[in-house]
Parts: sequence; C-alpha cells; structure tokens
Amino acid sequence: MTEPAAESASKKTMLKGMNHYELKSWFREQGEAAFRGDQVFNWMYNHRVLEFDQMVNLPKSLRHTLEETAQMQTLTEHHSIISPESATKKFLFKTNEGNIIESVIIPEEKRVTLCVSTQVGCPLDCKFCATGLMGYKKNLTAGEIFDQYLLAQKGYDREISNIVYMGMGEPLLNYKNTIKSLEIFGSELTTGISLRKITVSTSGIPAKIRELADTGMKVKLAFSLHSCFEGMRSKIMPINDKYSLHENLDALDYYAEKTNTRITYEYVMLKGINDRKEDLHALIKLSKKIPSKVNLIPFNSLAHMSPEGLSAELEPTSDKDIQIFAEKLRDNYITVMLRNTQGKDIAAACGQLAVKF
Ligand code: SF4
Repeated sequence: MTEPAAESASKKTMLKGMNHYELKSWFREQGEAAFRGDQVFNWMYNHRVLEFDQMVNLPKSLRHTLEETAQMQTLTEHHSIISPESATKKFLFKTNEGNIIESVIIPEEKRVTLCVSTQVGCPLDCKFCATGLMGYKKNLTAGEIFDQYLLAQKGYDREISNIVYMGMGEPLLNYKNTIKSLEIFGSELTTGISLRKITVSTSGIPAKIRELADTGMKVKLAFSLHSCFEGMRSKIMPINDKYSLHENLDALDYYAEKTNTRITYEYVMLKGINDRKEDLHALIKLSKKIPSKVNLIPFNSLAHMSPEGLSAELEPTSDKDIQIFAEKLRDNYITVMLRNTQGKDIAAACGQLAVKF
C-alpha cells in the first residue's frame, strides 16, 4: 500500500525516502508510466543527483513538471569539521525545518564507516551519552536518514563501505523510517553497500528486535548492554525499567537464530560501574548464551555538555584496565573488539554527538 507522500512546507511532494514500490506507484498516480519510478529511483539513490534536470533519460517536459511539483533534497550541509589526527569527519546537516543532526565518517585502513542519526536528539536519556542529554525533538524520515549518506559521501574522498545506525537517536523507536531507509540501501539499484555491511544499534526494544528479524534483511545488530545487572543497567539506561535485560536477551536470541548473525554487545567502560570483577564474570556468562562478540568502548567525556547528576559523576576506566578486562574475556574464548576513540578531538566519538563543536 502506498503511504501518503510527505508534503514539504512548499507543498511539493518529497520523493527522497520513498522506496522503489512507492515511487512507481506515485508516478502511476501522476498519470506517468511506472518505469519512470525505476528511473528516478536509480538517479536519486544510485547516481546521487540532486537536480531533476540531471535525470537525462526523462523527457524534458517531465523534468520540468517534477521541478514544479516534487523535491528530493531533505538536508543541507550546515557545517563540517575534520580531525587532523585521524581524518574522522563530523558533519552537521540541517533538515528542511531547520533541525540540526550529526553524522560522522570514521576511516580505517580497510574500510570507511558512516555513522548515521535516526532522530533529532533522543528520548532515552542514557547517562553516558551526550545525545540523551539533549532531549528528543523528532523522528527523521527515511529520506533524511539516507541523505546523510549521500551528502557525507559527496564531502569525503574515500568511498563509504559500511554504515552504522549509531548516531543520534534510537533507531527502533523510529522503526518505520529505519526499515524504509534499509530497504533503499538494500535495493540492487542503490548504493553497492550490502545490508551485511550495515549495523543497527539499539538500546533494546524487544518487540522491534523480533520484527526486524522477521523482515529477513539480516542486518547486523548491536545491543547497548553496558551492564549485565538489571539494577545497574536501569541506573545508567532508564529504558531498562521498561524493557528489561532479560526480555531483551530473549529477543536477541531470536534475532541471532533467525538471521544467523552474531550480536555485538556494546559496552562503554565506566569506572566502578561495570568494570568490577563481578561485572567481568557476568559478562563472560552472558556472552556464552547467544552467538555474540563484545565491543569495549572507552567512555568519552561529556564535559562539553555540562552534565548534572549521575552523568557528571561518570569516570572512564583506565586504558590499562580496559586492556586487562579485554584479555580476561579473550581468555574465556569471547571475541572482543576494542573501539578506538577516533574523533574525540572534534567531539565526534561514541556518545559525544550533541550538535556542538
Ligand atoms: S546511547 Fe543511543 S539510545 Fe541512549 S541516549 Fe544516546 S542516542 Fe539515545
């Protein structure tokens, strides 16, 4: 079923964000042949053009009509900054209504990863996260999620190879648009980035984790674990009061089995909170329950947000203690990755995204 097309303030129909089926239906409704939807899909998402006039296999009259009645740009680049240390690049994009969101390109030797946002701000208030301190403004459309990729790619000289839905917001609280953007990425006509190179990160909405598994898209799933104890997890991630770790583990088990993928447990290392002996033992036990790996993340300062309460008290586990923690996990045959803090110098590292420079 075709959803009503998004209307912009100028009453032009927003085409960016429509999936293949929706575009074909829209052209049919306009009295045009459905294959025009294929062509525009290809131009918009694959060739990444920003003007209808560049769609040279459309008749001139149709290009003119599209200029009058439709639009396809959801974001403009507001500002960008590149780290002299690591070539990590942070973009601030402005939505058509004037909201600012952030995306970050993280280059490594063999791959270039783009971290995209799915919401303006975030309602979940995780205590270690700058975005949570901003509060929540709105869900991004599928077009706004996808345009972060198009604009970031235009502004970077290496090809983006991987995408992580780990920027501002909780993707599974914006489920419909997250799925639509994944459908666009996953289309054969689109970017050449296969769904296997896309990771969706969630703080844990069990029903949506199961729904995502049932789509058959087989994207990788990262789960923000951060503590294996319900009480402590609730303290640092209040969403745990609503959706417990226990319920989430059931849903993650379902996801891993249904998609035949390994879950990544994200674990921000916080001194005295989740780096104690009992935390290590609980993490070892938990990691053996479901096919998984653990991503240890150094805690990045929130000082640029002037936090209060628990957020102000959080301290990072030292690099040395993180190494020891990782070694002990490995001794127990657990796959461990240590995330570097690339982008810290430009407030673009994990948990620091909050529209500030
Ligand atoms: S960690 Fe993710 S879910 Fe939690 S507040 Fe930050 S953006 Fe939201």
